[in-house]
Amino acid sequence: MFNVYFSELLVSIVTDNCLSQNFQESTIQDLSLYNFQVDNNQVGEIAALKLEAEPKLPGVILTEEEKLSGMISRQRFLEYLSRPFGRELFLKISLKTFYQFAGSDFLVLLGNTTIVEASTRALQRPNRIMYEPIVVEIEPNVYRLLDIHHLLIAQCQIYQLTNNLLHELYRKLERANKELENQASLDALTQVANRRKLNLYLAQQWVKMSKEQNYISIVMADIDFFKRYNDTYGHQAGDKCLQKVALAIDKTVQMTTRTNNESLVARYGGEEFAIVLSNTTSTDATFIAEKIRSQIKLLNIAHKTSCCSETVTLSLGVATTLPKLGSSVEKLIAQADRVLYQAKSTGRDRVICSL
Ligand code: GH3
Ligand code: MG
Ligand code: MG
Repeated sequence: MFNVYFSELLVSIVTDNCLSQNFQESTIQDLSLYNFQVDNNQVGEIAALKLEAEPKLPGVILTEEEKLSGMISRQRFLEYLSRPFGRELFLKISLKTFYQFAGSDFLVLLGNTTIVEASTRALQRPNRIMYEPIVVEIEPNVYRLLDIHHLLIAQCQIYQLTNNLLHELYRKLERANKELENQASLDALTQVANRRKLNLYLAQQWVKMSKEQNYISIVMADIDFFKRYNDTYGHQAGDKCLQKVALAIDKTVQMTTRTNNESLVARYGGEEFAIVLSNTTSTDATFIAEKIRSQIKLLNIAHKTSCCSETVTLSLGVATTLPKLGSSVEKLIAQADRVLYQAKSTGRDRVICSL
C-alpha cells in the first residue's frame, strides 16, 4: 500500500517505490480527511463560523447522541444561507432543522474502501449529489469527510501510475522476449545461429528469393581433421578452436557480402558450419567461400596432426539456385554437402562449387 499526501489540491504521490507496489489497493483513509463533527442540536451559526474559518472544509457531519445523523456539504450550506433571509433564518435554527431543509442522501464508506472502488461508488450517485463530500467511517462511529475532488485526483494518479507501470512492464517484457528469442536462436558455444534459426531463416529467404527471382547460395564449411585436433590438443582446445573459426567466418561474411544482401552464418552441427547468402550468384558465393578459407588460414591455429596443413583449415562446398515456391531447400543443402565431400576427398583445404 502507498500513501497519498495532499497539499492544497495538489496530489503528491511518493512514486519511487510505489510503481512496484500495489497502489490499486490504496484506500480512502490514506487520503486527506476532514474532521468536523457537530451535534445536530447546535445552531447553524456554529457550522457557518467553522466553514468560514476553514475554506477547504468540504462540509459538516451531524451527529445525534454521538451517532451519525446527517451531512451538509459546504456548497449546500452556503446555498441555503444565500437565499432571501437565509442568514437570519438558517443561522438561528438547529442543524437538525437545517438538515431537514438542506439535507440530502449522503454516501458513507468504510475507511478501508479502495480509492478505485470509492470513486466508482461516488460517481454512481445521482447527478444532484455526485460531487458532494463522502462520509468516511474510519472506526466504528468515528467519521471524517472526504472531498470528492481529492478522491478523483487520487483516482487519476492511480490511473496514471497504472499506465506507467503497464508501459514499464511492457518494455521489460519486450526486452525479455527479444533476449529469449536471441538465446533460442544462438548456438551456445560459438554464438553464431543454431540449426533451428538456420531452418527458419532458410525457409523465409527461400520464399523471399522465389518471389524476387533472385539467387540463393549455401556454403557448407567443415574443419579438416578436427577429430585429430581434439585428440592432439584436448576437447577444451577444440571448443576454443570452434569459437575462433565461427567468429572468423562470421566476420568475413559480414565484410564481404554487399550491404543489401542478407546472410546468415549458422553452426550446422559438430565442426560444420552453413552460410546462407541471399541474392548471391554462384561466382560471388565462391568468392566469399574462398575468402573464408583464407581467413581461417590466417588465424594460424597450429594443427600438427593435420594431413593437409600445419594449421587448422576448412573445406567448403558451394551450391546456388534460383529458388521456386514449393521446390526443396534440402536439395540445395544436399548439393552443397556433395561438393563439400568432393573438397574433402580431393585433398581438403579447398572450395568446390557445384555447377
Ligand atoms: P574431416 O577432415 O573428414 O572433416 O575429419 P574430421 O576429423 O574433422 O571429421 P570427423 O567427423 O571424423 O570428426 C569430427 C570431430 O569433431 C569429432 C568430434 O569430437 C568433434 N566435435 C564435434 N563437435 C564438437 C564440439 O562441440 N567441441 C569439440 N571440441 N569437438 C567437437
Ligand atoms: Mg571435419
Ligand atoms: Mg564434419
